[in-house]
Amino acid sequence: MDKEPFVNLTDLNRQRRIGASGLLLEIGPYRILIDAGMDPKEIGRASTPNLHLLGEAPLDLIILTHCHLDHLGSLPLVARRHPQTPILCSRPSQYLAARMLKNSLNVMKRQRDELGLAELPLYNKGDINAVDEALHPLPYGDTRHFGHNERDLSVTLYAAGHVAGAAGIKLSYRHRSIFITGDVLFTNQRTLPGASFPEEDFDTIVLETTRGRTERNPEKTREQEVARLIKTVHDTLSHGGSVLLPVFALGRMQEILTLLRDAIRARELPQVPVFASGLGLDLVDYFDAIARKTNALNFGRSVLKELGVRTLDRLPAAGGGPGQQGIYVFSSGMMVEHTPSYHYASAILNEPSCTIAFVGYCDPDTPGGKLLATPHGESFLFETLDYTTPVRAHVEQYDLSGHADREELLDYALARDPRAIVLTHGDPESREWFDEELAIRAPNIKVTDPEPGVTYQV
Ligand SMILES: [Zn+2]
Ligand SMILES: [Zn+2]
Repeated sequence: MDKEPFVNLTDLNRQRRIGASGLLLEIGPYRILIDAGMDPKEIGRASTPNLHLLGEAPLDLIILTHCHLDHLGSLPLVARRHPQTPILCSRPSQYLAARMLKNSLNVMKRQRDELGLAELPLYNKGDINAVDEALHPLPYGDTRHFGHNERDLSVTLYAAGHVAGAAGIKLSYRHRSIFITGDVLFTNQRTLPGASFPEEDFDTIVLETTRGRTERNPEKTREQEVARLIKTVHDTLSHGGSVLLPVFALGRMQEILTLLRDAIRARELPQVPVFASGLGLDLVDYFDAIARKTNALNFGRSVLKELGVRTLDRLPAAGGGPGQQGIYVFSSGMMVEHTPSYHYASAILNEPSCTIAFVGYCDPDTPGGKLLATPHGESFLFETLDYTTPVRAHVEQYDLSGHADREELLDYALARDPRAIVLTHGDPESREWFDEELAIRAPNIKVTDPEPGVTYQV
């Protein structure tokens, strides 16, 4: 009899949160690793997925959903142990991966010097080169086959919005069909069209759940949020203040620079100095190349010239004030310690004329998440700077998230008529919302919220 092929799934993340993505799928005879990230909230070994769980057996295939470090950051460690395993990714991701990893290597070297952690860096340039050589780009919509005949496994990537190169993954093996959303945004951004996911049925869907805690406000469309952001920037500047926009270097910075450029062209903003930080600026050239070579992006490096973007030689000290009036587009997006946005925030947080405008998701445990939870006037501690100040600047969040609304994700998944749904990439409360909602709307679907390190049959 033709038995249903088994699918085993193990979440390699060390914690049940966004953390360091890594998912081992065993489909029939195939062992496939989806992503190997680094948890931005941890340092050293603790920031990697639990790669011991990969065991000694060979890996047939690695698939990279996109180049944010929570998905890519630990890939060199895997490539070192499995040098023969191909790494499938989209064409834009092929351009970006090595550059992002080099940045990660530099950060680890700095951490080694600052914190005296001898285990750092976890990998070297040679390991990054090994990743680069193992990358096999697969254009969106094309299918690649592995194996022979009835043991044939096929893989197709679909544009997932979110960030340049992001991909959802369809895996088919005999009569099993599995779809992994990866990080996804269905809405168009200025620089990147929204996801274009397949509209067929799947028996299993692996779903990201980043925004499970966030209720959708139908009054707030993306364009309305952009308009509200631009108005805040305008008002702050016209009262003599400066604006800090904490952003991820990959994707967010280029999107925000494009928004600012468009607003200045439309005379919604005055021409003021715009400052940006290193990696994001460097990635502008990569985005420019991706736009020209793959048509996957609406972006050009001319945005830098039009805005007159410059860098700061030295960041102002804690409590030191904003320096030259302008717009500061600095990473990191969650205002993580030791980053330009963290330092610049410490300089302006006690300035009533200034604004800190968050434009994406902030994990509640990060400094950005903590600042958003601190009421105006109460004191905020910049831990690594040993500096406390009352919140006097205007602190606001704008819903320009790179992740889909929870309702959109649920609607997409339910329309695929799946037998099983696996919840990933979200904090416990976010997963709970999906779990509870699915129990009501589709009680027949088997929902798995995997405990890290435990193997589930789906
Ligand atoms: Zn991402
Ligand atoms: Zn992610």
